[in-house]
Amino acid sequence: MILPIRTLGDPVLREPARPITAFDRRLRSLHDDMLETMYAAPGVGLAGPQVGISLRMFVFDDGETGPLFMANPVLDAGAGELREEEGCLSIPGPYHETPRFEVITCRGQDLEGCPIEISGQGLLARIFQHETDHLDGMLFIDRLDDDGRRSVLAELRRIELGLEEPSQKRRLLRRTDG
Ligand SMILES: [Zn+2]
Repeated sequence: MILPIRTLGDPVLREPARPITAFDRRLRSLHDDMLETMYAAPGVGLAGPQVGISLRMFVFDDGETGPLFMANPVLDAGAGELREEEGCLSIPGPYHETPRFEVITCRGQDLEGCPIEISGQGLLARIFQHETDHLDGMLFIDRLDDDGRRSVLAELRRIELGLEEPSQKRRLLRRTDG
């Protein structure tokens, strides 16, 4: 089942999500719905709060690693810096160059509650940071300077008002939405 994606202004996106304690049938069904919703969007990552579920989990598929589920993720300190265009399914339309660690390791639990650890580089590292931010009530615009944030919000407004179409380049960049 495709779930409605919550967008900027919905308070659930700003709440810290709760840890997952029950790895049960309900969680598996939620996981299936989140994957279906992510692929339909389309996006490369989707966190619980984005579908109104304030639990610490996300699904992702960067085209090489995935589809995978991560519960209760914890990131290591990260290394390097990469500035690349980033978008968010909850802020549909605009993209902006966003600084992230180039390499980062994510530790968490799979659908059965077993520990997993994945090291990500480039896009995968970006996904881990973007989705874990969602679980702390943070959005990628919070990682931008004032000018960057203003430009994203102004573009979002123009798109919402129908004054601007997401460009072809931007449609191609949809791969980076999370
Ligand atoms: Zn996002």
